[in-house]
Amino acid sequence: MESQRKYPKIFSLEFFPPKSAEAERTLRRALAKLAPLKPRFCSVTFGAGGSTRDKTFETVLDIQQRVGIEAAPHISCIASTRAGIREVLHGYRERGIRRLVALRGDMPSGMLSAGEFRYASELVAFIRQETGDHFHVEVAAYPEMHPQAPSMEADLRNFKRKVEAGANSAITQYFFNPEAYFRFVDDCQRLGVDIPIVPGIMPITNYAQIARFSEQCGADIPRWMRKRLEAYGDDLESIRAFGLDVVTDLCRRLLEQGAPGLHFYTLNKADAVMKLWHRLGLDG
Ligand code: FAD
Repeated sequence: MESQRKYPKIFSLEFFPPKSAEAERTLRRALAKLAPLKPRFCSVTFGAGGSTRDKTFETVLDIQQRVGIEAAPHISCIASTRAGIREVLHGYRERGIRRLVALRGDMPSGMLSAGEFRYASELVAFIRQETGDHFHVEVAAYPEMHPQAPSMEADLRNFKRKVEAGANSAITQYFFNPEAYFRFVDDCQRLGVDIPIVPGIMPITNYAQIARFSEQCGADIPRWMRKRLEAYGDDLESIRAFGLDVVTDLCRRLLEQGAPGLHFYTLNKADAVMKLWHRLGLDG
């Protein structure tokens, strides 16, 4: 963990592009509450295969130009062509975007062609080939292993490929076991990977939702947490209070032991992230 300490800490937020007028209003309300926290940047997700391409683009420009916070679009390359990605990259560059989150993405159901990229490392290499050092490139990291990887060691080597292709820093999948993160960072250092690896933080406000997400992305909910959350049943207030305590403790430990910042998955809601932010004293 030692070399992660030398970077200034970066606190950032993640949003998804709204799909309806109502969702757009929800996002605007969340942004209005969260912007005063002055996150270093806000990232905006991208539907695999380009399904949210225009909405991601619009949301990114809204955050950067209207809200006045650096915005970082996610770009996923699965089911995409080089020409399509080239157009997206140049569109962002022309509008003054300087940071991207480069991902493979997951094959959308119903799509038959995997496209011209197989892995995120190929996307990172393509970004560098097309746009040189214009963009700060973030990539994804998986302290508890990507669900499709054959082993942790193979996943670590594949993570290293993204760094060798030109990634500047990484954001992790969310996790609740800090040891998984510390071990991951140590293993990266052993392999000579020395970029900042920022933990992705998922607030807990709804047990059914967190259980579903965790099942999909392979994040482990420790048994003791699962048992507590199950016992609260429909008592949302207790779930939120417990979630806030647990996730605050997790963030504190990560920061105290050298994590180079935190990236919060907001799910386009402000309250849980604001509470965490205040409890952690990030607003100074
Ligand atoms: P990769 O780094 O390409 O890895 C995918 C798998 O392939 C891994 O198992 C890896 O070990 C393996 N692999 C990589 N290279 C090789 C190789 N050369 N040979 C053999 N195996 C290899 N998804 C979206 O659709 N939109 C988003 O906006 C989005 N945002 C995300 C943000 C973050 C911070 C994170 C952590 C995930 C996000 N995802 C998003 C999910 C992500 O797209 C999925 O987890 C996806 O399955 C993997 O993407 P990746 O970029 O990590 O892929």
